[in-house]
Amino acid sequence: MALVNEHFLKLPNNYLFADIAKRVNAFKAQHPKADVISLGIGDVTRPLCEAVRTAMHEAVDEMGSSDTFHGYGPEQGYAFLREAIVKGDYLSRGLHIDSSEVFVNDGAKSDTGNFQELIRWDNSIGVTDPIYPVYIDSNAMIGRAGVVEGGRWSNVTYFPCTAENGFVPALPSSRVDVIYLCYPNNPTGTVLSKAELRKWVNYALHNDALIFYDSAYEAYIQDDETPHSIYEIKGARKCAIEFRSFSKTAGFTGVRCGYTIVPKEVTVATLAGERVPLQGLWHRRQCTKFNGASYVSQRGAAATYTPAGREQVKATIAYYMDNARMMLEVLRAKGWRVWGGENAPYLWVQVPEGETSWRFFERMLYGAQVVCTPGVGFGPSGEGYVRLTAFGSRERTEEALERIVKL
Ligand code: PLP
Repeated sequence: MALVNEHFLKLPNNYLFADIAKRVNAFKAQHPKADVISLGIGDVTRPLCEAVRTAMHEAVDEMGSSDTFHGYGPEQGYAFLREAIVKGDYLSRGLHIDSSEVFVNDGAKSDTGNFQELIRWDNSIGVTDPIYPVYIDSNAMIGRAGVVEGGRWSNVTYFPCTAENGFVPALPSSRVDVIYLCYPNNPTGTVLSKAELRKWVNYALHNDALIFYDSAYEAYIQDDETPHSIYEIKGARKCAIEFRSFSKTAGFTGVRCGYTIVPKEVTVATLAGERVPLQGLWHRRQCTKFNGASYVSQRGAAATYTPAGREQVKATIAYYMDNARMMLEVLRAKGWRVWGGENAPYLWVQVPEGETSWRFFERMLYGAQVVCTPGVGFGPSGEGYVRLTAFGSRERTEEALERIVKL
């Protein structure tokens, strides 16, 4: 008899976006003529830029000729892309990453979910709250998160991020082995200053902990002070893994390509106290379980580092950030309490006192035909907030705002 991995049965059945879709569909069934605008799901809407499309067309043509056909590629990514990443994303900021420390993947979701395989099941984990749900769910699947009690996982340490602390999480008061940080943050749209990020790196160094740093939205950072990479902080090469993605940077949500940086200095301990570098383990894991992102996707990703690609990608991000700016201005002018939206495509909106985030979601849907994401779906500290995204078209975003402020 094959036995199930019972940890899967501990996962709550409801998936946030499926729940939202169900409620929106019920509304549409009752109001078939309603024009519903979604400021909910965090998917991009602008098309791939020309430089990327041209590179991908050329790559497809190469695949169509026996002289230039590509079969299985290197599991850790083609050298042309890894070198472009090293130069374009790190050397350009004065950071030295070796191309053997770059692992190209099919997007950040896979690696933020899979990387925890490299550490023992009984390590403790800590997450900022609210949080991108993949971090906890992937740990729950192997039994590391415990069980859900009152909306919280019993073996997870939550670092609350709320209006009261300005969405800057406090360091843990008790030891945590692995810390998940995501900046710019999904869902709050807030960032960490260099000084704040330094506190986390120092915590990790002093406590022999690891930081899993998700910077999938770094391309949205607008000011000069906010760190784009955790490796801008001294000592981070000893304790941090960084996850990045072309999804939100270059509209690759349907193409699939991202990468993970695993510095050679990051080590973890055996029970006997011997230190083991994670870079070698991740290489081994990827060779066994991953066949690489497609050649065509990687050629497309590499094109974002060409001068034309850079300009075109920047223009798309500017388009979304103009939406975000406009949303912030309109909502704040109407007296709403809103965070994020300055260095991220997400706005985190406080709902009126006494209302829950699901109740507010219903009111937006039924009163304005606008879809938002209830903050509580991202964790207990998300109660009392909703997330709006700037990924829509200008016209639809403007229309949604007009309706919202009339509510
Ligand atoms: N990390 C964060 C914080 C995200 O919000 C997302 C997607 O929404 C991802 C990772 C996954 O991105 P990808 O499309 O690269 O898998």
